[in-house]
Amino acid sequence: MHAGLVAIRQELKRLQSEGVDRVYVGDATLQLLAGARSSAAPARPTPTVVPEIIKPAAVAKAVEAAPVSAFPPPPEFDLPEDGPAGQMQWLRQTVLDCPVCREHLGASGKVVFGEGNEQADLFFCGEAPGEEEARNGRPFVGKAGQLLDKILSAMGLSREEVYMADILKWRPGHDKPIGTPPPTAEEIAFCLPYLKAQIRIVRPKVVIALGNTAVSGLLGPDPDRRMGSIRGTWQEFDGIPLMATFHPSYLLRRDDSSTKRQVWEDMMQVMEKTGLSISEKQRSYFLPK
Ligand code: URA
Repeated sequence: MHAGLVAIRQELKRLQSEGVDRVYVGDATLQLLAGARSSAAPARPTPTVVPEIIKPAAVAKAVEAAPVSAFPPPPEFDLPEDGPAGQMQWLRQTVLDCPVCREHLGASGKVVFGEGNEQADLFFCGEAPGEEEARNGRPFVGKAGQLLDKILSAMGLSREEVYMADILKWRPGHDKPIGTPPPTAEEIAFCLPYLKAQIRIVRPKVVIALGNTAVSGLLGPDPDRRMGSIRGTWQEFDGIPLMATFHPSYLLRRDDSSTKRQVWEDMMQVMEKTGLSISEKQRSYFLPK
C-alpha cells in the first residue's frame, strides 16, 4: 500500500480513538485518495477533488490489516545501584546507544530520551518526538511542547520541575510523505521498558498520560477505550496514580475553550493530588465568561 495511504489510515485511527467522529479532508489528501481509487479502477474518471467530511471509522475499518514489520524483542536490563540522577544518566546513555533506536532515526534525527527533574512529583508522558524534538534531541520543544509549557506555567510550574518523556524514543514515520503517524504497536512494545524504567527512577506522585498512545502504552491497549471517557479519571500505573488527559497537539487542533477547560480540570485534579494550591483565579481558567 502507498506509504501516504498508510499514514492517512493511522492518523484517522488515532483521531477515532480520541473520540473524533468527523474530520476535514484537505486537497492533498483527497488527491492521494483519488489517485489510489483511480489506479485500482482505471476505467473510472478521476473524481473532481473537493474538500469533504469523512467518518474516520469508515476508513479505519477498511484498513485493519496494517503491514507488520519484524522487530527485535524489547530490551531487558537492570538499573545500576545508584541514586536517581546516576540511574537516569546510565539509562540515558543506554538509550542513546541503543542500536534499534539509532537504526530508526532519520538523516538528521536524534534519539529523544526525556528530561527534567529526576525527583519530580509530576511525570508527563507523551507519544513520540515530532520533527523539532528529533532535531533537538529533546521532548516537547515544538508547538505541542510550547503549549505544554503554558499548561505548566498555568499550574505554577516550569518544565525543570517536572519530568517529561515519550513512549517512543525516536520520531516515527519520518520517512513518510504525510504527517507524523502514531507509533506502531511493535515500536511501542520495544521502547516501553525504557519509559517504565524512567518512571521507576523518578517515582513521581502522579503520571500524566498525554493522549491515547501514552494511555494505551501505560495501561495496555483496549480497543473499547475512548479518550473522551477515560480522561479526567484516576487510573493506576505500577502503583502510581495516573491521570489521562488530551494530548496538547489535540488541543492545538481543536482550539476550543471547552476542550481547554477539560484539560485544565484534569490538571487541577493533578494539582490537588500533589498538594499544589489552587487559587480562585486558577479555578476560573477557561470557564465561559
Ligand atoms: N508530541 C509528543 O507526544 N511528544 C513530544 O515530545 C512532542 C510532541
